[in-house]
Amino acid sequence: MIVMKFGGTSVGVPANFDNAVALVRDRAALAPVVVVSALHGVTNLLVDYAAAGADRAALSRAILDRHAQFARDAGLGDTHAAGVAERWMPLHSRHAAAPGALGAAARDEVLAFGELASSGLFAAGLARAGVAARAVDAGEAGLVTDDRFGEAQPLPESAALLARGIAAGDGVPVVTGFIGRTLDGRRTTLGRGGSDYTAAIVGAAIGAAEIQIWTDTSGMLSADPRIVPEARPVPRLSFAEASELAYFGARVLHPKTLLPAMDRDLPVRVLNTARPDEPGSLVTAHGDSGDGWSVKSIACKKGITAVTIASTRMLLAHGFLARVFEVFGRHHVVVDLVTTSEVSISVTVDDASRLDDALAELEGIGRVEVRRDLAVVAVVGEGAPQRIGLAGHVFTLLGGVGVAVEMISQGASRVNLSFVVRDADADKSVRLLHRGLGLDAEHPAHVARA
Ligand code: ADP
Ligand code: ASP
Ligand code: MG
Repeated sequence: MIVMKFGGTSVGVPANFDNAVALVRDRAALAPVVVVSALHGVTNLLVDYAAAGADRAALSRAILDRHAQFARDAGLGDTHAAGVAERWMPLHSRHAAAPGALGAAARDEVLAFGELASSGLFAAGLARAGVAARAVDAGEAGLVTDDRFGEAQPLPESAALLARGIAAGDGVPVVTGFIGRTLDGRRTTLGRGGSDYTAAIVGAAIGAAEIQIWTDTSGMLSADPRIVPEARPVPRLSFAEASELAYFGARVLHPKTLLPAMDRDLPVRVLNTARPDEPGSLVTAHGDSGDGWSVKSIACKKGITAVTIASTRMLLAHGFLARVFEVFGRHHVVVDLVTTSEVSISVTVDDASRLDDALAELEGIGRVEVRRDLAVVAVVGEGAPQRIGLAGHVFTLLGGVGVAVEMISQGASRVNLSFVVRDADADKSVRLLHRGLGLDAEHPAHVARA
């Protein structure tokens, strides 16, 4: 068995949709389980629909038109478009007149529509290509989660339930990515981009031989191609390398994707739906085993906030750090980078929405300074941070073009040298390092393997 996950650009663009269907048909002997995202752009429309002040009547039309147009362009015919409308209208009647933004549970019910519709369309595409298939609602099939709507976490019993749920029935299962449900049947979603995570959860549950993530790039690249157009595919990565890249902004994989794969030691492949013959990236426990070290890729996450708490009393005092982290923990503020000095601690926070209450409490511990509009840049490669000279090289390059480095984290991870710059300097820094570390060369040798 293999898992084949197709993202929004693969299922939402008719030419890619045909490729995706053909790829599944050609692998029928491997017993594929398909996982699909919503059609490209649909989740954004649904997010808008759920927001305060939305023109829900107009958005409802746009959502239906998008599916109808797609069903026509993909040659699936009007019956499928009618099926999509039949599923949507009850949701729309329930929520159209709700005042303000939809509540978290109702919002997830609306967001889930995208994947429920696309799994039906994909199954129809397979049937048209002569492959028996059935749409599977992951929630009904056993992907049970906690009730943190919008960012739900699968429960441990999901694995056994899903293995049974997916096996029950004939034809290729086309499973909805991104969505689950609570034990008492309420709809949940796993966080934006979560279909990759679903693919890995399903793969681990059924003990797949491989998890294939089919997308619009030929693998995990040496940088975000929107920042560095000449970025190249990285042929082999370790779980640790791919996780760090995903966590620090490489959107091609949802940050949690590698966890289920690591638990079961399942290989993950990232492949291009439009160019299926290209080798893509293979992610395994050891990556390039025995190949020494190299910088593989540079990721970057924008919109970061840094918080510095300074206390003159920290000098020779104990308990200061514990108190600071206790406050962050209690307010569910996730901290990424941490640096400390004798009298202060600085941390970066990705999601600043929960920060205000924590800040009010931190004021009682020390002097607090908040800096916004920052970015974390992560230079990733097994063993690279320990390499003598890498940090010197990186910061000399940045200093040469006047980029101020606000925080540095090195040594905490054996795969990642990360640092903080101003948002406005982030793209420039990534481009400069991509070239300066030789990642644009066919064989990034001179610096990366010096
Ligand atoms: P899908 O719809 O297939 O899930 P996503 O848009 O979620 O696709 O992810 C693919 C996109 O991720 C690419 O088109 C690219 O713009 C972005 N991306 C960011 N960093 C990387 C990287 N290092 N390698 C590949 N893609 C990346
Ligand atoms: N459709 C969802 C989103 O756009 C999940 C995914 O694409 O992975 O976030
Ligand atoms: Mg994605």
